[in-house]
Formats: sequence, structure tokens, C-alpha cells
Amino acid sequence: MDAATMAEISKKLNEEEKRLEQDLADIGRRSGVGRISEPDFPSFGDKEDENAAEVALYGDNLSLEETLERELRDVKNAIKRIADGAYGICKYCKQEIALQRLLARPESSSCVTCKEKFSRG
Ligand SMILES: [Zn+2]
Repeated sequence: MDAATMAEISKKLNEEEKRLEQDLADIGRRSGVGRISEPDFPSFGDKEDENAAEVALYGDNLSLEETLERELRDVKNAIKRIADGAYGICKYCKQEIALQRLLARPESSSCVTCKEKFSRG
């Protein structure tokens, strides 16, 4: 990979990291207490349909937060791999990950072949 492409990917990852941290902070703020790891249980009222809405919203916040935290972890790991000089190498087969894939998803840590193999189980 040439230096210009590396710099572009590095920039993308840093922007992505900032965006994810911002999104996670927003979820924490919306919950009212600023905690990031536990979104507050929203309260609409005590009627049965209101309780159902609370549970649904709580579930949405929680899964969104989990997704963001997972993405942030992937992005941070990719940034670390750049620093270690190990970026762009598949963590399973140790082959180079296709540049096209890295440009589309810079936090990728495995090649398409391994990704498909492992996601199928
Ligand atoms: Zn692989």
C-alpha cells in the first residue's frame, strides 16, 4: 500500500473514531445522566401499552449502543494496527486484505474469504 492511500485510510479511521465517540456520548446524554455503558430506562407512564413502549425504546438504545461500541472497538484496533505496522493483514490467514475492501471498510481486520468462512460458522 502506498503512503498516500495509507494516509487516506488513517484519516478515515480517525474521523470514524470521533464520530462514534460523539454518537455514544449523545446516547449517554439522552439518557439524562451521562452514563455511557447503561442507557437509562425511559419512563412514559405505568399503563400497559406505555410499559411496552419503554421496553422497546430501551432495547433500541441498548442495541444501538452495543453496535456503536463494537464499531468503535474495531476502529481503535485498526488505528493500533497502523501504529504497529500490521495494518491490512488478515488476522486469520495472514494474507493481505484487498485494498478495495479496506477502502470500503477501513476497520476490516480479516479478508473477504475468512470473513465469509467465519460468519457462516
Ligand atoms: Zn484471511
